[in-house]
Parts: sequence; structure tokens; C-alpha cells
Amino acid sequence: MTADSDYQQPQRVQYAQDEQRFPWLVRLLDAYHIIDQGVSAAIKREQLDGRQLACAKGCSSCCASHQDIPVYPLELMGMSWYVIEKLQSPLREQLHQQLQQLDTLDCCPFLLDGACSIHPLRPIACRQFNVLDKPCAEGEDAYHSRKQDVMMPIKRFADEAFDVMLPFYGVKKKSERRKAIKEGRLHAAAKVMRQCNWQALPEKMDAFEQK
Ligand code: SF4
Ligand code: SF4
Repeated sequence: MTADSDYQQPQRVQYAQDEQRFPWLVRLLDAYHIIDQGVSAAIKREQLDGRQLACAKGCSSCCASHQDIPVYPLELMGMSWYVIEKLQSPLREQLHQQLQQLDTLDCCPFLLDGACSIHPLRPIACRQFNVLDKPCAEGEDAYHSRKQDVMMPIKRFADEAFDVMLPFYGVKKKSERRKAIKEGRLHAAAKVMRQCNWQALPEKMDAFEQK
């Protein structure tokens, strides 16, 4: 789920004014930047072995076929904030409508017209899921059909991103953060994206617009 232009030189997403209001957003965007740098490094490593990234803009069958994408609570805050405060028309109206019909949806709640409507704030699991050489067929989940083509993330980047996120969960001391990462404690807090309460978002979008 990484487009060519995303990985060449990953840029940190900036929301200067909002980051002043929300210290948690600084952590989240820093963590995403580290993850994106890790994806970039992993793609370059694969290229040395003669392999190429198959993911490209407009390729999105993974957003429909993956049922159990994990998201961490800090990411849920970021996704909700983005939808409520940042998403612009016409995607805003389209997503507002889609979130009211979740029961009939057979893809990620944020997939609109074959593209991710929350791309700057998409979660780590989406950033790190990338397929090599051949794009996924419609309905294919490459993790199950050809795991050898799913790019392995580089662990030290994920560890560094978790290290940046952990103080949000009250794990502040460096030694405690190291231990929490080693024990994979953050993973226990992850939710399944499609099972989260996204139905509540349209009302919150409306309330934000009326402020
Ligand atoms: S190649 Fe597969 S994982 Fe990559 S963007 Fe396309 S559908 Fe998603
Ligand atoms: S959050 Fe975006 S990238 Fe991730 S599955 Fe949903 S639409 Fe796809």
C-alpha cells in the first residue's frame, strides 16, 4: 500500500497548528515518518535483490480483501481527527455517506473510489503491507496466497516508531519502553480496524462543521 512517490524520499506529514494543539499528533506523525523511512529502506533492499514494488497509486484490492487490519489507539485518534477536522469536499461528503452504510460495505470503511481517503493518516499496518513484483489480483490477499512476495518490514524502524508512541500509553522511561517493545506490549492494545465504531464519525463531522 505504498505508491512509488511515497517511498523515494518519505516526507514527514506536517500539520503545524494542529500539532501545537495536540502533542499526541506530533508523536503519531513522527512515528509514521519513521515507518515510512523503514518501508523506503526495505524497498531499496529488495531492489538490490532485483525485486520491484508492485504497489502503485490506484491499486487497492488489498483494502477490500484484508479483513483484520490492526490499528493502535493512538492511530484511531489520528484517523478520527483527520476525518473530522481535515477531510475536504467532495471526499468528506462521500465518506460521511459511506460511514452510515457500513453494514453493506465489503471493504475498508475509508476506501473511496479505489483510493484511501485518509492516506496521510493511514495506519502502520497499511504503510507496511507491500507486495513485490506482481500486483494483487482482485480479491487476492497476498499474505495468504504468496507470502514470499509480501515485503518484510525492517524491525528496527518499527521498534523506533513504537518507542516514539509508547509515552502516549504512559510508558515514559527509556528502560520501560525497551522492555515494552521487547515484550510486544503495544500489540495487545491493537483493535481490528473494521470492528471499530466508525458509525459515530458522521455525527462528529457534523458537530465540527457547526462550530
Ligand atoms: S499490489 Fe497488492 S498490496 Fe500493493 S497496493 Fe496493490 S493490492 Fe495493495
Ligand atoms: S486505511 Fe486506507 S490504505 Fe488502509 S485499508 Fe483502509 S483504505 Fe486501504
